[in-house]
Amino acid sequence: MTRALSHPAFRFAPSPNGYLHLGHAFSALENERLARASGGRLFLRIEDIDKDRCRPEYERAIIEELRWLGIPFDPEIRRQSHHLADYAQALVRLERKGILYPCFCSRSDIVQRVREKPDWPRDPDGSPLYPGICRHMSREQRQKRLAAGDTPAYRIDIERATALVGGGVSWLDYGSGSEGRLVTADPRKWGDTILARRDIGTSYHIAVVVDDASQGITDIVRGEDLFHATSLHRLLQSLLDLPGPVYHHHALLRDGAGQKLSKSLRAKSLRSLREEGLTPEMVRTRLVPAPSMVTELQNV
Ligand code: GLU
Repeated sequence: MTRALSHPAFRFAPSPNGYLHLGHAFSALENERLARASGGRLFLRIEDIDKDRCRPEYERAIIEELRWLGIPFDPEIRRQSHHLADYAQALVRLERKGILYPCFCSRSDIVQRVREKPDWPRDPDGSPLYPGICRHMSREQRQKRLAAGDTPAYRIDIERATALVGGGVSWLDYGSGSEGRLVTADPRKWGDTILARRDIGTSYHIAVVVDDASQGITDIVRGEDLFHATSLHRLLQSLLDLPGPVYHHHALLRDGAGQKLSKSLRAKSLRSLREEGLTPEMVRTRLVPAPSMVTELQNV
């Protein structure tokens, strides 16, 4: 496979819902390394659509920490919260193709429906696939719920959507290395997933494909925990006629117990490690995806 001929562009796209940890630093540095190697631009994108969880002080801290690390980002920072209209437009395009439908189910409606079925399929994140309750709702029923002021989420009809793109989609993935392999996308494993959340009117999946295209991103460098999401992203890119970037799903940093570093599992923040004496040089020279290194750096 040959690489796209367009000018290389990379992005690091954290969500300001917590402080950065060493896993983020590693991903940002991987972006920097590959952008340098190809003479590409490197953008910082703040993924702040989730207004309940994102906070300005986290955004400030992200920018400060990346400066401290000395990563030369393009001065133009993109904030997703400024582009909600673009995401809405993409959703309208999908709706016009007849592959979106409103869903009024709560989480517990879904849990209840699948409770008695231990073999019910789950998506790559472990959530039960949507059992299709609202997929076949009549137009009248939908109108009635909307008129009553019920705000729905919008789901993709995955069977129709995949049928629409026909021959399937794939992507070139470099993993953590320099050998690309062609991966066939399998978006059906996500089932009828939500593309517009009830509370924010959009979703990570829509925002990320719209932004990657608007910013001309050619190379997506991110953790392998998002590998499966790429199947859905490639489907959406194909449905929306957006270019397909190449992907570098790098290995994740893990702690001594083999757990991936994550905000939810309270990985030590770069902020507190800095206070304990961690320097950018230590991060730059010693950060490799090996548990011993992480343990060492977290105990400076
Ligand atoms: N905002 C996502 C995160 O912080 C990253 C998304 C991406 O790189 O596509 O995990």
